[in-house]
Order: sequence, then C-alpha cells, then structure tokens
Amino acid sequence: MPIKKRTIDVVPIEIKKNDKVEVIAGKEKGKTGKVLKVLRDRNSVLVEKLNMIKRHTRPSPTSGQGGIVEKEAPLHISNVLLICGKCTEATRIKKTQTGEGKWVRACKKCGELID
Ligand SMILES: [Zn+2]
Repeated sequence: MPIKKRTIDVVPIEIKKNDKVEVIAGKEKGKTGKVLKVLRDRNSVLVEKLNMIKRHTRPSPTSGQGGIVEKEAPLHISNVLLICGKCTEATRIKKTQTGEGKWVRACKKCGELID
C-alpha cells in the first residue's frame, strides 16, 4: 500500500506567539488582538478574545461540572495581518537579512525590524 501523502500546503507563517494582529476578513474584521498560539499544521492562529466559540463540555474529573465554555477558534493566517509596533499599521511582513546573515522579519511599510 502506498503511503498517502499529505496535501496541505504549509505556508511559512511569519506570525509568532504574542504578536499583535488585526483581522482583515470575516466576522471579526477590523478587530485586533494578541496571538495566543500558532497552529502551523492548520495555517491558523488563535487570537486572544477573538472568534470566540461556545463549547459544550461534559462533566468529567478534569473539567469539573461541565457546561458551556467559551474559547478562541482558529483564524486562518490569510485573514490576519501583523501590526507593526512602529507605524502601528497592519502590515505584511517581509524577510530581510541582517549584516550577520540572519533572516529577520521587517514591516513592509516602514521597514522597521520586528524580531
Ligand atoms: Zn511599520
């Protein structure tokens, strides 16, 4: 039997945990928040208090009573933009090389290094 290949294209995600991002599409469009987690295998990020969904949980020894909890649902990476700390605008990221040959992230608008 041939091994089934994964068909998901993993695009390089330039957004990191604790980055501030703005949502540019969907029901949370225009809102900003802090990245809690990057889900690389799903090309998505979890953003604090954005895209909340209600989850029903059953009573269990670990979660206690059970009931409804709200939690962040992943936002696709193409629907968020990093907010530059210098020009405070939502921006795409470019990669730039430092004098030591290290690749770092930079704001496409003002050129400020983000890393
Ligand atoms: Zn900038």
